[in-house]
Amino acid sequence: MCVFCKIVNGEIPNNTVHENDDFLAFHDLYPKAPIHVLVIPKKHIENFQSVDPDTMAAMTPFIQETAKILGVDETGYRLVTNNGKDGGQEIFHLHFHLLGGGKLRWDHSHEDPHKAL
Ligand code: AMP
Repeated sequence: MCVFCKIVNGEIPNNTVHENDDFLAFHDLYPKAPIHVLVIPKKHIENFQSVDPDTMAAMTPFIQETAKILGVDETGYRLVTNNGKDGGQEIFHLHFHLLGGGKLRWDHSHEDPHKAL
């Protein structure tokens, strides 16, 4: 069972921000911004590439509510999903990173395969 399924089951503790029957939002264990929350579906879906449209449609208002609870709905935030190996996905259970709490830098750095080591 994956780490996020264990969080959903209560086997691993989490710092919950928002929850309903289908979705859970909780603070990232290793925050990369002043506010760094992960939003997941409770059912196991590998990543964005395999999510169904109904889940995405239902997830939208849940994420918007989460942003309101965090107080960043007016000031702004970034919503990111890492998809697959090159996208930097480490946990293969769909999650959106909700980042905010300050002006975020925009950095699309990547590993250059042609760069000499
Ligand atoms: P990704 O690289 O997009 O798959 O992101 C996985 C995220 O999960 C990382 O930001 C980790 O810090 C975070 N993470 C891993 N384990 C936990 C955990 N037990 N509770 C909260 N966040 C976690």
